Amino acid sequence: MSHLLIVEDDELLRDALSAQLTQAGHTVTSAPDGERAQALLESTRFDGVLLDLGLPQISGMEVLCWLRSRLPALPVLVLTARDGVEDRVQGLNAGADDYLTKPFSMAELQARLGAMLRRARLPAFGGSLELAAEGTRRLRLDAKVPQAWLGDEPLELTPREWSLLSLLVTNAGQVISREDVLLAWQSEPGEGTGAGVGSNALEVYIHRLRRKLADSGLNIRNVRGLGYMLESTPP
Ligand code: CA
Repeated sequence: MSHLLIVEDDELLRDALSAQLTQAGHTVTSAPDGERAQALLESTRFDGVLLDLGLPQISGMEVLCWLRSRLPALPVLVLTARDGVEDRVQGLNAGADDYLTKPFSMAELQARLGAMLRRARLPAFGGSLELAAEGTRRLRLDAKVPQAWLGDEPLELTPREWSLLSLLVTNAGQVISREDVLLAWQSEPGEGTGAGVGSNALEVYIHRLRRKLADSGLNIRNVRGLGYMLESTPP
């Protein structure tokens, strides 16, 4: 599973978190203050950090800023005792990926942590990419524009279709789950109302993308119970 660092000065909470997350299958290392956290972060590779904001000496916010300048991609879940909106905004601005206000339930922590770690494993597609298998039309994506082309023809895509297609293309030949898509969409500005998207809506987007890829030699296969996979259709 994942190697997590817990930075928390409250011994009782630190031990409880450590025990629960170890039980959930993670490898857990903990630090009671910012200084020890920094030493650990310099010597060890972690998959995620649980960071209390209210720490003695070096504050959690200082640790967060320090961490972001060195390890920009490391997922950080901030724990805060105060439920002040300012704290959260400041924490998110300083680069926290998510936050939890104390007191929180272990179930909520596990869910948020799981989502954060999954997001981190699906890095946002930021480059350009070409898919040219035998018997298929060349599919090209450039995230800087962003724009996709099938052969020389630009594809008209909405933002959600774009992020769905880039997820499928960067994972071509592998299954992406519904959760992967919904998570990718969470970080996108929504279409229309920006409201949440259910699995039924996902079917609609898959259907639209299939139509746009018609005659390309590429197909989005529905892998029952698992998700979707981009593949070249056999001739
Ligand atoms: Ca504290």
